[in-house]
Amino acid sequence: MKPAPFTYHRPETRGEVDALLAELGSEAKILAGGQSLIPILNMRLSSPAHLIDLNHLHDETAGPALDDGHVTVGPLVRQSSVERSELVTERVPLLAETMDFVAHPAIRNRGTVVGSIAHADPAAELPAVLAVLRGEVVARSATGRRTIPAGECFRGPLENSLEDTEWLEEVRWPVAAADQGFAFEEFARRSGDYALCGVAARAERAGDTTTVALGYLGMGDVPVCTELPPLGASAFETDEVEDAVARVVEGQLDPVDDIHATVAFRTHLARRLGATAVRRAAAKADTAGQDS
Ligand SMILES: Cc1cc2nc3c(=O)[nH]c(=O)nc-3n(C[C@H](O)[C@H](O)[C@H](O)COP(=O)(O)OP(=O)(O)OC[C@H]3O[C@@H](n4cnc5c(N)ncnc54)[C@H](O)[C@@H]3O)c2cc1C
Repeated sequence: MKPAPFTYHRPETRGEVDALLAELGSEAKILAGGQSLIPILNMRLSSPAHLIDLNHLHDETAGPALDDGHVTVGPLVRQSSVERSELVTERVPLLAETMDFVAHPAIRNRGTVVGSIAHADPAAELPAVLAVLRGEVVARSATGRRTIPAGECFRGPLENSLEDTEWLEEVRWPVAAADQGFAFEEFARRSGDYALCGVAARAERAGDTTTVALGYLGMGDVPVCTELPPLGASAFETDEVEDAVARVVEGQLDPVDDIHATVAFRTHLARRLGATAVRRAAAKADTAGQDS
């Protein structure tokens, strides 16, 4: 199918994007990599009257940059550029570990990191990783900028918290601390497919205990972030980790049945993947703590 007719806009500066959105508001959609938006338009699930194409903005960075304790990613940074970035590998290892799970190489060559966050797909990897890392986004409009914590970015399936006149100019990923460890796990039927369930883990050592935060994808309308009770060293020699994850899965996740998986299967995956991610992240936090 072909999209419904629309007016195409090709701004060359961020200010021109602000002005177009101030004038057009909810009539307009931003086009970045097009890997999600174009199929949606082709299937006529959305029919915006105007498309604002970011791809001709001048002076945009092509790769991630370091800024005040964060690795920042601008609106035209492709997912493949983040995947290959040494800066990301060194400073945001969880993001580096996750990139390989996002779609296929051809899609990552065109798709943007900012677009994936703006798209707010509850089955996407990057929103869950941003949430568990307590990252943030910078939204802008003709009237100014505001920083939104990751926990307030996602309102529902494919629904972000931007106003109609706002767009995202940056996603900010916190640089990992020396005593932290991370892990990402997911299960998809085929490599590159959206996962049936996935989970990102962030672990921190404090004395004899380890605190672990989990960010689940595909298990609710938005990424679900939660923190396990502090785990002592003995937890890793028994089933205490599995029990703690099971309590989170039963109490806080809300998976649905669909043609790909039943609630029972998704719940099983959430328990198994969650426990594996906790153990891997905690082991890395242990090693990191010894090295620092
Ligand atoms: C076959 C296939 C498999 C895929 N598998 C996965 C997968 O496993 N995991 C995964 O996470 N993704 C997957 N994707 C999606 C892919 O990662 C997309 O690239 C990504 O979700 C959107 O990025 P984009 O730059 O292409 O955005 P676009 O498609 O251009 O835009 C997506 C949405 O975000 C909005 N938007 C984009 N940029 C901005 C901005 N700067 N400010 C405000 N709004 C903005 C657009 O208006 C639109 O609503 C898959 C896609 C395909 C086609």
